[in-house]
Amino acid sequence: MGRGQRLISWFADALQTHTVLECDALRAAWAEDAGNSISEAHWRLALSGHLNIPRNFRFRLIQFYIVHRAYLTPARVNRYLARQDAACPHCFCVDVDLFHMRWSCPPLCCYWKAVVGCLSECTARRVPFTWEACILGLFPKGNRHRAEVRFMDLGLITAKRLVTRMWKSSGPLSVQACKCSFEVWAGAEGVALKREEVLGLHKYLLSASWEELLLRLQSMSGSAAVDESADGRPLGE
Ligand SMILES: [Zn+2]
Repeated sequence: MGRGQRLISWFADALQTHTVLECDALRAAWAEDAGNSISEAHWRLALSGHLNIPRNFRFRLIQFYIVHRAYLTPARVNRYLARQDAACPHCFCVDVDLFHMRWSCPPLCCYWKAVVGCLSECTARRVPFTWEACILGLFPKGNRHRAEVRFMDLGLITAKRLVTRMWKSSGPLSVQACKCSFEVWAGAEGVALKREEVLGLHKYLLSASWEELLLRLQSMSGSAAVDESADGRPLGE
């Protein structure tokens, strides 16, 4: 097997299994950007976080790339391609890093606050407004129902997908657009859950809880989430 094939094979395995690499340099880079440390246990959870995303391999890939810091920034591209503007397209600051492009840019923070507000309202429980939750997918899951955790993972990755698509665009990051997209993906997941061939009690409860969460999401106006973000109340736990 050639080197290229081995790489593809490893990549396919990594997206489907709990393959965890030693990535201390990545962990240190995130910790340095955020100005706080990441425990060994949390880092291992972050590295396998893409596996929490049901069925959709494109979404898994997004999470995998984020944790492995594989995404480009305008400043990085500008070093190789001078015609690419080096400024952040959302706040126009120059030479910003990946952490800024994913989390700390002010308009992006407003967007994340609105997303977290939307998910908090939908699940009737506070989702932590932290970069660890929104970027690495690390939030307390112990006392939450399995459907709720899965729903939040899908909601957060839908929000991250929009950020990824807008990395070069100066258009506004819209929580309403994120909500519409989330409704589509959550609806598809609900259908898939119902179609699973062996529908035991456990799966029935998962499917029923999912339906309930989806109905709540559909009944939300979306503007409620924006309002919640606008008053600046801390949503962190
Ligand atoms: Zn910015």
